[in-house]
Amino acid sequence: MSGRREFLEGLAGGIVAAFPGVASSSALGPAGNLAPRNKIDLVLPPKPGVAMENIGRVFARQVSQRCDARVTSGDHATLRVMLAIEPGLSSEGFRITDDSNGGVRIIGDDERGLLYGVGKFLRSSRYDQGGFTPGDWCGTSAPQGSFRAIYLATHFMNFYEAAPALEVQSYVEDLGLWGANVVTVHFPTWTFKCFDDPAARRNLQQLHRIFQAAKAVGMEVGLVLCPNQGFATPPQEIRAVPVPDDLGRRGHFGVNCCPSIPAGHEYLVSLYTRLFDKFKDIGLDYLVFWPYDEGGCGCPICWPWGARGFPNLSRDVVQAMRARFPAIKSVLSTWCYDTPPAGEWEGLAKFLKSDKSWLDYIMADSHTDFPRYPLDHGVPGALPLVNFPEISMWGRSPWGGYGANPLPARFEGLWTQTQGRLAGGMPYSEGIYDDINEIICLQFYWKKSRPVDDIVREYLAFEYSPDAVDELSEAIGLLEKTWTKRGPDSAEAFALLQKVDARLTPRAKAAWRWRILYLRGLIDSELYRRNDKMEGPVLKGAFDELTRIYHAENAGPMPLKPPRVA
Ligand SMILES: [Zn+2]
Repeated sequence: MSGRREFLEGLAGGIVAAFPGVASSSALGPAGNLAPRNKIDLVLPPKPGVAMENIGRVFARQVSQRCDARVTSGDHATLRVMLAIEPGLSSEGFRITDDSNGGVRIIGDDERGLLYGVGKFLRSSRYDQGGFTPGDWCGTSAPQGSFRAIYLATHFMNFYEAAPALEVQSYVEDLGLWGANVVTVHFPTWTFKCFDDPAARRNLQQLHRIFQAAKAVGMEVGLVLCPNQGFATPPQEIRAVPVPDDLGRRGHFGVNCCPSIPAGHEYLVSLYTRLFDKFKDIGLDYLVFWPYDEGGCGCPICWPWGARGFPNLSRDVVQAMRARFPAIKSVLSTWCYDTPPAGEWEGLAKFLKSDKSWLDYIMADSHTDFPRYPLDHGVPGALPLVNFPEISMWGRSPWGGYGANPLPARFEGLWTQTQGRLAGGMPYSEGIYDDINEIICLQFYWKKSRPVDDIVREYLAFEYSPDAVDELSEAIGLLEKTWTKRGPDSAEAFALLQKVDARLTPRAKAAWRWRILYLRGLIDSELYRRNDKMEGPVLKGAFDELTRIYHAENAGPMPLKPPRVA
């Protein structure tokens, strides 16, 4: 047992996190657990398995980030926390109970269920009373949505590409604690000459690190593909014909290829099978296919792309993939379908009538409201429907440049439009500034009817302080109200944040999740006071700090770097 004790303690470090608290949804509670403890005995079964060992390590890291309590194993401690996997609950579900000795048992139906149970226990506990005060939430919970993914964009030296491995990996684990079961990434072929391009190798290394962190705690991983996108210099003769784009919504980097030209088809399938081979060691669980922005071909055979060229090529890539990973699941996105109208939704429905054996989910969403077609006409292929909420770029640029962008009312409104018909989704994250928006989406996927206010309150209690939930809820409301136009409410929001800041512990003050929220309030309030003039040492200091938190010193050319102040 001594070996494991060192293991848990040795890996308890990591990025500085935040200040947690009691969840608002607590139920019954183990009596006598409510005093703070400074030593926790984490008990794993005799043969715990790699994922359970790692989930234990994540528990230890979280506790040590938030308070001085030590997590040990096989030792005499003031609190026993037992982890177990006992199939029989719903898939990915968990149960938290007290045991006869005043300890806590966290039971997962499977590895991921255990991860989510540990997350719930961490969030129902508090850390500000001189140690670890175990939460009193007891009960059973299981997810309603089966596909609860987060898409981490790794490009232009944003956080997910530029940050040290440990920070990114800890972040992936943190998403797991909130209910994510899949992490997806994209390999941006168009920015590289070939797989041997040093930048491509660096990017692939980072993707591996992200996947390793996810797999280590039992999560699944997937690649987002624009299946007709080539490397930076595909042969001229196989290039795609630009697609009609009356609304100017689509990117076109000039490297898309036409899969209806035999050499183009061969180039693309070969490129993607070689890409899959790069992940042979770690395994792939999902492919998510993207039609536009980037992607598409407007030639007479491929067009309408969403009804012909795109599903055809996606099916061929899935088949090539299944030779390597037989259990692979696939998701077809319908992003920008029928903008302008081209019969893409209807054509896809017809396409899938003849064969849908290669496909598991349809993804739908848009820059604005949720698309009507799948709600009014049914989902093509009668497949489960998932969404793609835009949590990163809406409303302001540079993305993340002003700190946290909490938009709970916006996402509740969009979620309501989908009428409870979704089986999950995959928010697109450009950086950690949208953390709270990711959590809101993950919790909607977990329990479709959960009010957004309830989710936000659980987040605020856990990440900041259970005693500041009311003030912070009000501040978040004001920050959302002033997201597209600053005003007197910007100053009011900052005043609330300052009040809370004065009461937080040093650990809580230093946590990045607090700093990005606090700096958002500071920046907006200062800009309002200065009539939007980008000047002065306060703004400079705030933007510089955000840049350091995001590791965005070399970010670009996309607007990912906080503004510069002269
Ligand atoms: Zn074509």
